[in-house]
Amino acid sequence: MLMRMSTLFVRTLREDPSDAEVPSHRLLVRAGYIRRAAPGIYTWLPLGLKVLRKVEGIIREEMDAIGAQEVSFPALLPREPYEATNRWTEYGDGIFRLKDRKDADYLLGPTHEEMFTLLVKDMYSSYKDLPLSLYQVQTKYRDEARPRAGLLRGREFIMKDSYSFDVDDAGLEASYEKHRDAYVRIFDRLGFDYVIVKATAGAMGGSKSEEFLANAAVGEDTYVRCTKCDYAANVEAVEVRAPAPVAYDDVPAAHAEDTPDTPTIDSLVDHLNAAFPREDRTWTAGDTLKNVLVVLKHPDGSREPLAIGLPGDREVDQKRLEGQLEPIEVEAMDEAEFAKHPALVKGYIGPGVLGEEGKSGIRYLLDPRVGEGTRWVTGADEPGRHVIDLVAGRDFTGDGTIEAAEVRDGDPCPNCDGGTLESARGIEMGHVFQLGRKYAEALDLKVLDENGKLVTVTMGSYGVGVSRAVAAIAEDTLDEIGLCWPREITPADVHVVAAGKDQAVFDAAESLVAGLVDAGVDVLYDDRAGKISPGVKFKDAELIGVPTIVTVGRGVADGLIEVKDRRTGEKQEIALDGAVEAIR
Ligand code: ATP
Ligand code: MG
Ligand code: MG
Ligand code: MG
Repeated sequence: MLMRMSTLFVRTLREDPSDAEVPSHRLLVRAGYIRRAAPGIYTWLPLGLKVLRKVEGIIREEMDAIGAQEVSFPALLPREPYEATNRWTEYGDGIFRLKDRKDADYLLGPTHEEMFTLLVKDMYSSYKDLPLSLYQVQTKYRDEARPRAGLLRGREFIMKDSYSFDVDDAGLEASYEKHRDAYVRIFDRLGFDYVIVKATAGAMGGSKSEEFLANAAVGEDTYVRCTKCDYAANVEAVEVRAPAPVAYDDVPAAHAEDTPDTPTIDSLVDHLNAAFPREDRTWTAGDTLKNVLVVLKHPDGSREPLAIGLPGDREVDQKRLEGQLEPIEVEAMDEAEFAKHPALVKGYIGPGVLGEEGKSGIRYLLDPRVGEGTRWVTGADEPGRHVIDLVAGRDFTGDGTIEAAEVRDGDPCPNCDGGTLESARGIEMGHVFQLGRKYAEALDLKVLDENGKLVTVTMGSYGVGVSRAVAAIAEDTLDEIGLCWPREITPADVHVVAAGKDQAVFDAAESLVAGLVDAGVDVLYDDRAGKISPGVKFKDAELIGVPTIVTVGRGVADGLIEVKDRRTGEKQEIALDGAVEAIR
């Protein structure tokens, strides 16, 4: 493969794009890999597409190696399947919705569990057909609240998603392990410094789940790892060892107060403003707080809630899946909406750190046995660490204790004795889930088992952010002067620069390039003549980041060319004669 700079569809930029917040985004735009089409939506240019295809290639090889079969779904999907699993509603503003000319609802797929489930239901009916793993490398759409950092968080992006189908739990476990192993190989080959962390199932539902996080300061995920054992978990998933329970009566007087028995949204808001004032604005009803609260009602509609938890809490999710609980986001509810839910105890807020908006990793170990005659308690066990036990209940643990915990550096490891937790940032590159029977149940995917009995299929779902990987690798490998691709995914193996005006230089470069291409080396050849100075060509080569830069210049007169390692900057003069063998 040969690309010539004289005709390649690329324009390198000397200036940073104004909207780029992280180095990989700046450099991918400046070096001519991608261009922005709209917020969070990018066009791939030839160089970018080369890298993308290499990443896809590695992923495909490893998926094929575990026997997963590639299919391809449309991105434009009908509403009904997503309605059946309730995700049409659950996704809220997170998906792009549209209507056809007959006024029927469609969405642009954010992930494809429903569609895969239905496809398998369409085609398979026996345990003999299973296990089955299918995958696709496909464009996904999510109307992210904050599209960020170029390809890292797009609103249109490319994901490899796969789904496994098994007849029983042991099968699912095996399929999950196979995928997990394939992911280890994928991320090893992509050259990531990554960790595998425990994760919560989130909007996917299901039970066991792990994330592959690339270590990176620009990452949006925070995880903790143990200093002693191999425990690592997304802060959202840490099972904290609760500190010693605080006796209800020991809550410092300054932080405890009485409020009316059945607080209203207004009294709650007043309470927040008094206890946790914000600098920029006041709390108002309807404020959306990340990770704040689910209130769950008893299915029989009694006033007694069964549990409080975070969206994504495994236990809570499980109960929810089993139909025992119904989550309601009180934060988004006004008084009128409240009134529609007779089973709600008014005024639950929490868990959440309201003083530090968006902070996650909070766990409340509460048994909110609350009834009439409630009282609000707020606790702050030290300055700056506000734990809200903003809980209605005179005696909410049954024995007069509050337990609350928040993951922090230095906390004891939940997995070993003597280890402590330390936190770090990462970019979520991949995510493996055991979905269990949630989707199969909702969409009625059953097969006949050995005994001729209909059983519900159990599923796994596995995703890799393909376009995100391009940016994350760029972020991980770049330096002050430009991109710096690892050999596995570089857009070309060698960047040959013809540096000079003499025809002899161009002739020598031309024949070297032909030799390299013949030898199967992918070459990017800077054959630009005329006003383009060698200095400009070198700068472009450094910016574009091909791992080996070969300069054919004045030395040609003595039969010499220069070979430079882009990463280390190491230079070496070699003979033009036999150069193909030396370089390839
Ligand atoms: P995040 O926590 O970063 O929002 P997610 O947990 O919502 O990601 P999943 O639903 O697990 O994402 O999707 C599988 C993979 O798709 C993720 O691990 C990530 O690599 C990738 N991905 C998710 N959202 C985006 C996005 N907006 N842009 C690019 N890649 C994404
Ligand atoms: Mg997301
Ligand atoms: Mg995530
Ligand atoms: Mg995820």
